Formats: sequence, structure tokens, C-alpha cells
Amino acid sequence: MQYRQVPKNGDKLSALGFGAMRLATKRMSIDEERATRQIRSAIDNGINYIDTAAPYHGGESERFLGRALQGGYREKVKLATKLPPFSVKTREDMDRILNIQLKKLQTDHIDYYLLHGLDASQWKKLFDLGVLEFLDSAKAAGKIRNAGFSFHGDRKTFKEIIDAYDWVFCQIQYNFLDETNQAGTEGLRYAAARNIAVMIMEPLRGGMLAGKLPKEVEQIYYDTGTKRSAAAWALCWVWNHPEVTVVLSGMNDENHIAENLKTCEDALPGSMTSRELATMEEVAGTYRKLIKVGCTGCAYCMPCPSGVNIPQCFSLYNDYYMSNNSLITRGMYGMMLMGAMGATATDASLCRNCGKCTKACPQKIAIPEELKKVRSTLGGLRTKLIIPVVKLMFSTDVKE
Ligand code: SF4
Ligand code: SF4
Repeated sequence: MQYRQVPKNGDKLSALGFGAMRLATKRMSIDEERATRQIRSAIDNGINYIDTAAPYHGGESERFLGRALQGGYREKVKLATKLPPFSVKTREDMDRILNIQLKKLQTDHIDYYLLHGLDASQWKKLFDLGVLEFLDSAKAAGKIRNAGFSFHGDRKTFKEIIDAYDWVFCQIQYNFLDETNQAGTEGLRYAAARNIAVMIMEPLRGGMLAGKLPKEVEQIYYDTGTKRSAAAWALCWVWNHPEVTVVLSGMNDENHIAENLKTCEDALPGSMTSRELATMEEVAGTYRKLIKVGCTGCAYCMPCPSGVNIPQCFSLYNDYYMSNNSLITRGMYGMMLMGAMGATATDASLCRNCGKCTKACPQKIAIPEELKKVRSTLGGLRTKLIIPVVKLMFSTDVKE
């Protein structure tokens, strides 16, 4: 196993982390026996960072991990979980939720505790409720060891949050198609330059960069003559960045776990050859040709006075055309933008056509017109029908 060091505390974490968001399931519930076997085997093979969150698997992921890490496994790993902003209404809720999480995870401390899925509005809400004082007091009480946050907002907000507290780590969405989306490469470097460890989520963009690929992309990988899966190419690209500490993979298949462990061994920072990097450029360029809106995620158009998360709307709209899985994209749109998780809605339907954003866009995108297309493609009845399923999978109600 390859290990990378957290600058502020010296922890040596496995470069591959186990994400407990997509555990093995059976009849719509976690397959306890299989998922336990997989997690323990991953730990036996060197993984020492496990990431979960209150809403995963309808609130059952934390409880499952509490059981799966018995028998000495808890002591072998650094455990990460998250404070769900959508479930917090008061400062007291923060303590209450953390205490429930400790109980569910059957532990007296969380090694890496994150504020979950921040964007500008969730950050403001938690900040105003006193979240930084909560983190200080939870650390002083020994209930959490290291404070961080996971992020899905725009780059400007990312830098603002990074500068607002003495974070040990943060978690961003990053892969070869998200270099300029959300925190992006600029955000990755900004955090690393401040000695903040960066954990990576969605290295395969929710599976879009592996599995069933566009024919053109398949051909590029095939022409390299290298026997390597699309998932391995994408993971190697992320690990190639020296600023990256842990790459999280939501693993639920024995073959994928074995492959990821093997890939991680040699995927050291700067280990990709210039030829391999050129291949990734070509693959990224091919995906980009399938893109509908040339939004770079710069967020100069933000904030929108009506609350639309413009770059995220375009990012998911583009995903819809680039991926072969419209169901996942609709689910993400419902979850991230239509308020399925209890957060304020920030979807394309909120646009009031004021024109403010258009003047600010360096790409000269006709934003209101494009948002109409986003709304009709992703905001329709089919997405609304998926929302109850998303709510079942990601519970916002934190119960013991
Ligand atoms: S045109 Fe629409 S998206 Fe743009 S700023 Fe106005 S309300 Fe927001
Ligand atoms: S200003 Fe234009 S390119 Fe930048 S995020 Fe907004 S829509 Fe995208």
C-alpha cells in the first residue's frame, strides 16, 4: 500500500480510502456479511482511512461501520464522518448529532470530522450558527481529532472557507474532467499550499469515467496498447498529483477492490509518463466534445440573485450528455440542486431571466437560455419521481 502524509499532524494515510457511501447491498439494504468481509479485507491489505457520513445508506452506513470495525479493526483505521448541515437548525443540534454519530460508530472519537458538502449557503448557515466554536469545543473534549470540510460549491467560496479556520484537511470532487469545476486544480493547490491535506471524492465522477464508455474514449485507451481499465487510468491521473493525500473509492465489488489496491501500489505522485498524460488529455478532450455548454466553472456569474447554482446546473447538464447513465445524473440534480437533501433549492427553475449573470460570463454563454434547456432536460417529472428514492438512500434525519 502507498501511504501519504497529512502535513499538519504527520498521519500516514493509505492513498486509497474506503468510501462507505456505496456499500454492497442485498434487497435494498446493506449486505452486512459481504460488506463487512470487504471492509476488513481492505484493511488487512493496508487501507487505513474509512469515510462515511450521517445520511449514507439512509443513515445505516455509520451504524454498519460501528459493527464492521469491531474485533480490533476500529483501532487499525482513521475514521471520517460528517456533520450534515441540512439536519442542523441550532448550535445544540451540532453536539446532539455528533453524540449520536459516536454512538452509532461505537467509538469515543472521530479521527477526521467534516462539515458535509459545503457550498456558499450551507457555509453561511453553519458559520452563523457557531460551527467554528463547535469544532473547537468538540476537539477540546476529545470527540473529534481533526476538523475538515467536504465541498461542492464554487472556487471563490472554497478559498473563503479554507482561509476561515485552521483546517487539517478538506475533501473535494476531483478527476480529469473536473479540473476547472468546483474547487478544481486551483483549489487543490490553494489548500495544499496552506498545508491542508486534500482528500478526493468522485475520482470516477460517480462511475461515469469507468464502466460503459463512449466508443471514441474506448478506442483511445485501446490504442495505447496498455492493459489498464478506464477506472485505473482515471485513478492514476488523480494520484499523479502530489497535492492529493487520499483518494476515496466507494467500493462494493471484490474485483474492483483488488484492482484498486493493485493500481494504488505504483500510482505515486508524478509517476505518469508524458505519453500517458497526453492520453488523458485526449480522453478529456473527447469527453469535452460531447459537452453541451462550455462552462469552465469559474463562477464569475455568481452569486445569482435568485439563488441558481449556475456552474453546477451546467456541470450536471453536461454530465447528462457525456455519460451513459441519465438516472445517476437526474438523481444528482435532484439531490444537489432541487433540495432533495433538505437544503435550499438552487436549480435552473429559479432563474428569473434578469440577465445579470450573462454580462459577467467570460465564455459569453447565454446563461438564461441555456438554463431553460437544463430545466426541461433535468428538472422534469422523471427527476421528481427519483427524489423519493434519493431521500430514502440519503436520510437527513439523524436518529440513534
Ligand atoms: S439570469 Fe437567471 S441565472 Fe442569471 S443572474 Fe438572473 S436569475 Fe440568476
Ligand atoms: S461565468 Fe460563465 S463560464 Fe463561469 S461559471 Fe458562470 S456560466 Fe460558467
